[in-house]
Amino acid sequence: MAFVVLDDKISTASCALEQSEFPPCTQRLNCPHLHGFQPRRPSEHLPISDEFALSLYRKTVTLWELEDHPTCRFEKSPDILSSTDFRLPPSSPWPWLGTIIIGIFTVRIPSAARFCEALILLLCRDYNTRYETYWMALMTYVLEYMDETDIFDEKDLRDEYRPFYCALKKGEPTVFELLDELRNNLSSSGHLPQEHT
Ligand SMILES: [Zn+2]
Repeated sequence: MAFVVLDDKISTASCALEQSEFPPCTQRLNCPHLHGFQPRRPSEHLPISDEFALSLYRKTVTLWELEDHPTCRFEKSPDILSSTDFRLPPSSPWPWLGTIIIGIFTVRIPSAARFCEALILLLCRDYNTRYETYWMALMTYVLEYMDETDIFDEKDLRDEYRPFYCALKKGEPTVFELLDELRNNLSSSGHLPQEHT
């Protein structure tokens, strides 16, 4: 499970992991949770089991286009949902859909449209890198499980992202041409981070 944390709160979040009941990772760079089919290395991670780890990612490298401090309360935000929002489907261990209740705390998640846009942004940033297939796999997940449900329709996407998404959905041959065009536009308008590590 990945938590995205404001950059200036990452050390506070790391301390919270250190104080948890789970022992810290002792495998350092050999840790299996840091390798294989996954996104970039998290800032911090805490192994919960052999298969499951809790990871922290900096907001500026994952959800940089989302507002840090939304001006309206998140209950009314088109960008952020509570992980217990009634519009989400019931909790399901597979395909990891639905509400998530973590103790008494409110966990905020991007709305389905902002999540899809974030994946497209990450795909653009990591195009032609080893991370590209991970983001494309998550795009497939969106198409398979979220598209045309109560929480997501392609009309919810911002105009600049919609042509690529629709072409991907229909399997049109122009899809990579549209991705190139979007990537160039996002890059020239300063919406993609410069670093590529
Ligand atoms: Zn580890």
